[in-house]
Amino acid sequence: DNGIGKWNYKQATINPRRTALVREDTGQQLTYADLNARSNRLARSLEDAGIGGGDRVIVLSTNSIEFLEALFAIAKVGAISVPVNFRLAGPEVAFIASDCRPKAVIASANLTELVAAAYADERVDIPLTIITELRGAPLPAIEGTEVRDFEELMAAGSPEDDERDVEKSDIGMIMYTSGTTGRPKGAMLTHANIEANNYNIMGMAPGISKLDVTTTPCPLFHVGGLNVHTFPLLFLGGKVVVLPAFDPAGALKSMADNRATVQFLVPAMWAAITAVPNFDSYDVSAMRFGMAGGAPSPLTVIEFFQNKGWMFFEGFGMTETCAGALVISPEDTVERRGSVGQPALLTDARVVNELDEDVAVGEIGELVMRGDNIFAGYFEMPEATQEALRGGWFHSGDLARVDEDGFYTLVDRKKDMIISGGENVYPIEVEQVLHRHESILDVAVIGVPDEKWGESVVAVVVPKPNAQLSGDEVIDYARERLAHYKSPRAVEFIDELPRNATGKILKRTLRERFAGQGE
Ligand code: ATP
Ligand code: MG
Repeated sequence: DNGIGKWNYKQATINPRRTALVREDTGQQLTYADLNARSNRLARSLEDAGIGGGDRVIVLSTNSIEFLEALFAIAKVGAISVPVNFRLAGPEVAFIASDCRPKAVIASANLTELVAAAYADERVDIPLTIITELRGAPLPAIEGTEVRDFEELMAAGSPEDDERDVEKSDIGMIMYTSGTTGRPKGAMLTHANIEANNYNIMGMAPGISKLDVTTTPCPLFHVGGLNVHTFPLLFLGGKVVVLPAFDPAGALKSMADNRATVQFLVPAMWAAITAVPNFDSYDVSAMRFGMAGGAPSPLTVIEFFQNKGWMFFEGFGMTETCAGALVISPEDTVERRGSVGQPALLTDARVVNELDEDVAVGEIGELVMRGDNIFAGYFEMPEATQEALRGGWFHSGDLARVDEDGFYTLVDRKKDMIISGGENVYPIEVEQVLHRHESILDVAVIGVPDEKWGESVVAVVVPKPNAQLSGDEVIDYARERLAHYKSPRAVEFIDELPRNATGKILKRTLRERFAGQGE
């Protein structure tokens, strides 16, 4: 047993000369033998720096080969990697750093300012900072920490295999949730969880193997970019082309140039790719299938790729489930529009009421899941962990219903559901109707406290530029299409909706701002 570090040892033995990693912009290439040797070297240097079993190491980096080398090296010494979203602001990174108290941070040179901003917080005290991708530039000085060059540490360690005792039940990674509903929580993923996820993905993705090629412009700090396609291919011996950033034409060109065969992207990225001019001039004929998840995919995207003859899979996943927990196949996507599919190979799902009893087919309840891919708890949050994992099932906080064939459909987040006059209102349903109004650019529907109704429905609307739109017009539009109790009682206009670094709307911020304005 030595956890995910074993994937490197194994591939270096059975597929040493196959290409593991390619960096699109710099042309760097690593075979599996190289990847194993480099992650061994870094592991030994981390040990020399006093990092070992159970220690946390933050990885704060744009997508790079070094990012993945770091994850494997950290795993090889039994330490815990904590990938952090580089789009966060200094105080948000500081919060995560003060929460998980890492012994070191591995950061890319382009993020030095963000690192320094986080360290400026007095709660943050990190002895060692390792900078990647210096490419000849001088090592920056950061106050309050020793700064070392990643490549220098790499050169100092031995490339030989020197396996440490890592149990699969050990925590291998802490991934923070997106912080959509509250403070980000550190989801502890064991080596076994991450490996089980590989099998879940293999069950979803027809015949993926070491012959497959993927590109990864999706951020590696989220389960989507890391666990849906990148880790499974590195487990199997496939080829991963790393893109440091996403631009639609560049990503499409990379898929074509590298003869990519399988591809995960979030729906917004797929939507941008469908809009690339001269899509058909890019030869992506090697592609076997695309996958999307993290948010609902527009039907136009699904149809676009189906018309091109691709298989297109949609999935539902959370940080706490490692990645894909439910998946729907291309045939079913069209027939059961809106469903996120069925549980993955190693995952069970149910829909339950407040008493944790199964609800009837078609009824709305909370989606709960269990299985080898389900996380081990939230880091140092015993109450939240107990609440989330009660009765052996992970309570997702998402509302869903299941049909007679076992296909799940997401309804909304439990925390966002509005109870107005005793009736349940699911904001997403109302938003979908308002989105069709020709003068509405963006909209979020929230519940605010109301003396008479308990809560009342408020629509927060971003009008299209130059549109003449009144609140009454929005209310009338809704009432013509929805039950009265679902229609907004008040409309607030706003220039832009608050979103987190993942692009999800922060409804808690809107609720605070518009509380008491539902009269
Ligand atoms: P936090 O838990 O901190 O409030 P978060 O739940 O947004 O943040 P993530 O783990 O990144 O953090 O996101 C998981 C959530 O994303 C799910 O609970 C669900 O609400 C949403 N989601 C994931 N996949 C889909 C999908 N295919 N369709 C619709 N929503 C999805
Ligand atoms: Mg969540």
